[in-house]
Amino acid sequence: MANFAIDATPAMTYDAIVIGSGISGGWAAKELTGKGLKTLVLERGRDVKHVTDYPTANLNPWELEHRGQLPLAVRAQYGNIRSFMREDTVHWAIKPDEQPFVEEQPFTWTRGYHVGGKSLLWARQTQRWSDFDFEGPARDGFAVDWPIRYADLAPWYSYVEKFAGISGNKDGLPNLPDGEFLPPIELNCVETHLQGTIAQHYKDRQLIQGRCAHITKPQPIHTAQGRAQCQHRTLCVRGCPFGGYFSSNASTLPWAERTGKMTLRPHSVVHSIIYDEKKGRASGVRVVDANTLQMMEFYANIIFVNGSALNSNLILLNSISTRFPNGLGNDSGLLGKYIAWHNYRGKISAQYDGFPDKTTDGKNPSNGYIPRFRNLYKQEMDFLRGYATGVGGGRNLSQNQEGMGLALKERLLNPKLGPWHISGWMQGETVPLEKNHVRLDPTRTDKYGIPQLITAAGWSENDDKMVVDFMTQMTEMFTLAGFRNIKAVDTHSNPGADIHEMGGVRMGKDPKTSLLNQWNQLHHCKNVFVTDGACMTSTSTQNPSLTYMAFTARAANYAVDQLKKKNL
Ligand SMILES: Cc1cc2nc3c(=O)[nH]c(=O)nc-3n(C[C@H](O)[C@H](O)[C@H](O)COP(=O)(O)OP(=O)(O)OC[C@H]3O[C@@H](n4cnc5c(N)ncnc54)[C@H](O)[C@@H]3O)c2cc1C
Ligand code: SF4
Repeated sequence: MANFAIDATPAMTYDAIVIGSGISGGWAAKELTGKGLKTLVLERGRDVKHVTDYPTANLNPWELEHRGQLPLAVRAQYGNIRSFMREDTVHWAIKPDEQPFVEEQPFTWTRGYHVGGKSLLWARQTQRWSDFDFEGPARDGFAVDWPIRYADLAPWYSYVEKFAGISGNKDGLPNLPDGEFLPPIELNCVETHLQGTIAQHYKDRQLIQGRCAHITKPQPIHTAQGRAQCQHRTLCVRGCPFGGYFSSNASTLPWAERTGKMTLRPHSVVHSIIYDEKKGRASGVRVVDANTLQMMEFYANIIFVNGSALNSNLILLNSISTRFPNGLGNDSGLLGKYIAWHNYRGKISAQYDGFPDKTTDGKNPSNGYIPRFRNLYKQEMDFLRGYATGVGGGRNLSQNQEGMGLALKERLLNPKLGPWHISGWMQGETVPLEKNHVRLDPTRTDKYGIPQLITAAGWSENDDKMVVDFMTQMTEMFTLAGFRNIKAVDTHSNPGADIHEMGGVRMGKDPKTSLLNQWNQLHHCKNVFVTDGACMTSTSTQNPSLTYMAFTARAANYAVDQLKKKNL
């Protein structure tokens, strides 16, 4: 559909449009406005202002009517709501009628539809990827070769880390490159005990403090953002009034706002990208106003697609034109395919009888982390790739609820400290497969008239074998540490339960086998950039969002450079 209106409607015309205001969209907004571009940020959900829109941030437990529990009747309104949505956080949850989708195969799709997106919900783990990841597909013969290597992204990791504020140790591990770290948060005694056991028994395994997006020692760049030191309240998912952790709301969006170049438009559900057949480029986006349900159009020279991985797939698949009848940029026919995620099925828990004199666990808003050790230097197992493990321990008060009368009352009023407990959770790499895909339902639409997404993605034998190895290896490490009551399980959770869904618009060298080039530009529609999880060629074992940030900053700076050179 040609856009003949671009010169006729200046009020709707911008230099750049960013779709989505979450982790990656916030970075796009910051970089583009910082370079002087008049930028429209379109966000489908409501506005969330830093501090003032965190209604529960400072409530004490007794000020919550149900002491944090979500009543079943309220829970029922939200359908399959995730366990981290409780009384103090349920205002971030979306109702099922907001965006129904079709689970051809079961898929847990967790979304955050408000300004800031999932940057208000995330666990803030920020590990860099390495060449063990970027060289993985070429080495192990799956997916396609990444068009970049670690060296291309390293300066951009540094760039985003300094601004976001990442705490951690310099561990000197080749598979987990060090970054620009603020002081680390300490592990507690039971985690340190496991760390020592692993160091004693294994040459190839380490337990480190997970690098995380918390300000442990504010630098001038953080105070300039109005953010302060993390107070270890571990109430992060309510929204942090100190700006102690990185979110779009505390960091990138207010920074972009201050340039005077950003227009943020909440309640704007992007329907599709408009392709100008005459000019051979995208000219803008179609938006459904969530309040009036009216369709409107906005125009710009460049468009950043940051709706989160599956929504970015949906938007591109729904961007149909004469030139692109199967979705924008989709000459290869691969749009929506090779969806992958992280394998979180393996879990382990145990208790420890040591440290009876240690009574506090330090309220660590991060956790311990065992980087991938399987198949690192050579293929050694009967499955491809490997897994990392998150590790967290603590000690709780427990109430003995046995008995009756005064004795019961006495016991309830005087809870006793239980033993130290520890748990581990798997973060396995899944191998992207063509059959794991999303596509549009040809008949069903949502309340905005946008086609519903069909998810068709399932586990493979590779994933099953990896879970078994995780349970065996973690049980061995926990046993060596003297833990008791060890329980290792395969939860058989759905794909997507990890909330790290990736792919569908993958990067690559060859337009025949990929959608995006090394700059996150659509091979066949150069003024459209996709820099969220949709762009990922493979999944690594590390949490992905820091990598989305680095890709976004890199692509935005490239886009502005190309605009200046009149190449876009
Ligand atoms: C509980 C939890 C823990 C997590 N822990 C970690 C972690 O420790 N480390 C890590 O790296 N990652 C973690 N993640 C994942 C992380 O939150 C995401 O990877 C990250 O937020 C993705 O960034 P994004 O910009 O792609 O998407 P989002 O942050 O989800 O932002 C997308 C935005 O686009 C908007 N949008 C979507 N569709 C449209 C449309 N059609 N029109 C307009 N706007 C649209 C959405 O409303 C949203 O605001 C976690 C997530 C959760 C929920
Ligand atoms: S732990 Fe730190 S980041 Fe989290 S809410 Fe508390 S102060 Fe904020």
